Amino acid sequence: MIYEELGVATLINAAGTVTRLSGGIMAPEVAEAMRQASLACVDMAQMQAAACRAIRAATGAEAGIVTSGASAAVLLGAGACMAGLDPGKMNRLPEVADGRREFVVVRSQRNMYDRAVVVAGGRLVEVGIPDRYSGPGVRDAAAWEVEEAIGANTAGIYYLAQSQSKPLLREVAAVARRHGLPVLVDAAAQLPPAGNLRAYLEEGADLVCFSGGKALGGPQSSGILCGRADLVSSALMQMLDLDVDVETWAPPREFAALGQMRGLPHHGIGRSCKVGKEEIAGLIVALRRFVAADAGERAAMLRARVVAMMGAGGDAFAVTDGAVPMLAWRVGAGARAMAARLLAGEPGIACGMGRADEGVLLFNPMAVTDDQAAEIGRRIAALR
Ligand SMILES: *Cc1c(COP(=O)(O)O)cnc(C)c1O
Repeated sequence: MIYEELGVATLINAAGTVTRLSGGIMAPEVAEAMRQASLACVDMAQMQAAACRAIRAATGAEAGIVTSGASAAVLLGAGACMAGLDPGKMNRLPEVADGRREFVVVRSQRNMYDRAVVVAGGRLVEVGIPDRYSGPGVRDAAAWEVEEAIGANTAGIYYLAQSQSKPLLREVAAVARRHGLPVLVDAAAQLPPAGNLRAYLEEGADLVCFSGGKALGGPQSSGILCGRADLVSSALMQMLDLDVDVETWAPPREFAALGQMRGLPHHGIGRSCKVGKEEIAGLIVALRRFVAADAGERAAMLRARVVAMMGAGGDAFAVTDGAVPMLAWRVGAGARAMAARLLAGEPGIACGMGRADEGVLLFNPMAVTDDQAAEIGRRIAALR
């Protein structure tokens, strides 16, 4: 086992597919696709064309590419909104000569991943008062407030997809359409349900970003950017290595919009988001598996793991609602110490600390095997 050789301890990850703990566990089919991809060389534009076909089939989008993560998808998507198919603008990013760099964002949707928009050269323009969160009110921003913030320098609208996100994407998309502006949706962790692969596009998003390393079960450093073909093609141009002979280069027909470009950009902002052939192959296989899986079976499998983690159960245990059920263990005042004891065990068990202030430890079934779920059940039983 490579980890033994490296002197790196493995752990049971019940904190979810978090990056800090290396994401999840890949299916053998996904790893095998990556291994096979590593054995030969290909043209990366052709590889992305294959990704485009797979993503189109899974999402209904006009086009899609594999990125090095959802964060990279947000960065490249923002770059596409600002540069369009203009290679000069691509070359200048993150500088924006014409000033059209503003992304309107509802204040309650601000999050640290939106830095990717700024890294690309964008500037976030906040609207709305998050009254719902602060307590004194019940309302959040309305679509008209988003509209009011649109001006000559607006490049797009950034939207964080969450079940509680307000205003509704549909309403924001209607505003954007009136102004001819794209809506860039960060839906990194909004899977399952698999229906969300299509939902945001159907609600009017122009670009949608998903993580490949979360529920999709793909390589940890993979993601998806999908949506309008011209914007996805622009994003691809800003990521591909284009040290090519311009006379002989032709875009794959999946990215036919690139035929309109007056020239090719040089290495730009997307160069730091490089994705390998292995990640693309792995993501395609993972995406196909995710879409083909039966939703009821997926839910039953996750629930069975939660039940296994609960062991004999009791009043201190509950199963949370939501697309991914979790075990909530009400430990009380010693919750943080208990988490430390779990982590110090052999192997260490990492759990979710999002509710530690209430004395609750969360156990997420996404990144654990069935055997590991049973092991968690035994360890909790021994410690409670
Ligand atoms: C996880 C997450 C990301 C980052 O995804 P990566 O695939 O790790 O780059 C971005 N945005 C949100 C909302 C996330 O939850």
